[in-house]
Amino acid sequence: MRTDNPISLLARRIRTSSRITVLTGAGVSAASGVPTFRGNAGLWQSYSPEDLATPEAFARDPGLVWEWYNWRRELIAACRPNAAHFVLAAWSRRYPGFTLLTQNVDGLHEQAGTENTVRFHGSIWEVSCWNRCPGSPARWVDATVPLRTLPPGCPYCGGWLRPGVVWFGEPIDPGILDRAISATDCDLFITAGTSSAVHPAAGLVAASRRRGAFTAEINPETTPASATVDWSVRGPAEVVLREVEDLLRRDITLT
Ligand code: NAD
Ligand code: ZN
Repeated sequence: MRTDNPISLLARRIRTSSRITVLTGAGVSAASGVPTFRGNAGLWQSYSPEDLATPEAFARDPGLVWEWYNWRRELIAACRPNAAHFVLAAWSRRYPGFTLLTQNVDGLHEQAGTENTVRFHGSIWEVSCWNRCPGSPARWVDATVPLRTLPPGCPYCGGWLRPGVVWFGEPIDPGILDRAISATDCDLFITAGTSSAVHPAAGLVAASRRRGAFTAEINPETTPASATVDWSVRGPAEVVLREVEDLLRRDITLT
């Protein structure tokens, strides 16, 4: 077996690492039909996500922001996990020291059966009260598709509901951030399908390298992380991860 190609190198690293962390972004769901933010298909009408996914945009026009989320929820509801999600789900069950950090809000990792998932940016299937009214939980699941009234009303105070996601400019839940930072203390850190442009998630791979992890990126395009990771693999996550998994499974069958 050749050991100098990225697929076998990744397979070897996975076999010999006891703590593995994978950070995923929108690119991992692209093959499922979920549009990324930074591609042509990511544009919605004439708005950019930065104009819609902010508390300021919501305060200005909650109906417009909910129209966009309603559209995304309908679109995602029709999507199914792809090979990238299924391979990561298999690793989460096979390797005890495996953590999946995801910036995705679509729920496809969970649908694929992934264990130990840390959702960095919340879930598009959850909602919370815009006023954070005292009677309401911090977030709860409401997967109604499509929502009939936009913006939907809070059942506790009658005010507006907001999507249960983290918007640009909002802080990450401190408990989630702690879990993500703990997960940077690993032997192998793979960042897959993310533009590495949205902080603080984008800083995790470098943090992990500083802590001694071997770092790898899987992305068809160059990103700001490409120059700093130990190994940059150019290709779609659903293809690269499938090939790595094929090698790993061949080994399992042989031993
Ligand atoms: P992004 O849209 O900024 O970047 C997508 C990245 O994926 C790009 O670097 C692109 O080259 C890469 N890519 C495209 N196809 C790929 C493939 N088949 N395999 C691997 N990589 C591929 O997404 P981001 O970096 O995740 O950051 C944007 C923010 O938007 C995140 O906070 C995320 O929560 C949110 N978002 C989520 C979803 C989702 O839940 N599916 C979709 C869009 C945006
Ligand atoms: Zn309320």
